[in-house]
Amino acid sequence: MLESGSVMIIGSHVSFSQEQLLGSVKEALSYGANTFMFYTGAPQNTKRQNINQEYLKQAWELMQKNNIDIAHVICHAPYIINLANNLDPEKWQFSINFLKNEINRCEQMQIKYMVLHPGSHVSLTKEEGLNNIVQALNFIIRDDDKCMILLETMAGKGSECGANLDEIAYILNGVKSKNIGVCLDTCHLNDAGYDMSDFDKFLNLFDEKIGLEKIKCIHINDSKNVINSHKDRHENIGFGTIGFPNLVNIVHHPKLKDVPKILETPYIGEDDTDKNCIYPPYKFEIEMLQNKSFSKDLLTKIRLYYK
Ligand code: FE
Ligand code: FE
Ligand code: ZN
Repeated sequence: MLESGSVMIIGSHVSFSQEQLLGSVKEALSYGANTFMFYTGAPQNTKRQNINQEYLKQAWELMQKNNIDIAHVICHAPYIINLANNLDPEKWQFSINFLKNEINRCEQMQIKYMVLHPGSHVSLTKEEGLNNIVQALNFIIRDDDKCMILLETMAGKGSECGANLDEIAYILNGVKSKNIGVCLDTCHLNDAGYDMSDFDKFLNLFDEKIGLEKIKCIHINDSKNVINSHKDRHENIGFGTIGFPNLVNIVHHPKLKDVPKILETPYIGEDDTDKNCIYPPYKFEIEMLQNKSFSKDLLTKIRLYYK
């Protein structure tokens, strides 16, 4: 039998709409995952349903039965929340209140981590944007919050803050509470200019500037674009510019052994014209990464499985 410490913690983004967390757990299990990430509502809006206690109880039971440790489950804040720009003070305050609320919802569900895009400074300067993020997080984060915010490393699309380790470090240093961590995203890192084929070099740099213990989650995505393109378009595992061997190296890296890995790769289309992207690739991508063996026929296999 495998030691529990040697099992890779891997899952994907899943839906929260059917039966809330219970639906998320069922979907994760259908992919053979032992963790997952969800949004507590549509990522592009801030409408939220109340937590259904009956579904929640069943979700916890189902996780326990299937050895999904809730400490590895990740929530993602909606990406319309922007802490970096406060030109409309009411909107900024709304973002702050909304995030506080999301943390409460996560605590109700016993979810320990919430990934957050730091924000886009838009018409402000980068420095103003970063300072707004720090100020907002100082309003939001408390030492005794049971759900920790994780800043996601961004691709640097448009005016995104947090596309390099210095900016992430600047925010972390400005936040008074130590109750904050980081979520890496391999596609974003590649697009931001970090070479994923020399991951040890990246980890050393991260350790120097921030500290490896701050990494609480890693999004595993291939990229449609070349290094330093600042684009942020995810590609299926092994089909992008990062490539299968580099992604295998990252998910099996001994220094990230206990860090949950979450796939956010695109759904597969009905045929090669790529229309109707309705088939989730995660069951097959998880298998490939666990077995360290790439399947060129991935897309065909997925279509056959779900048809
Ligand atoms: Fe994200
Ligand atoms: Fe991501
Ligand atoms: Zn992305």
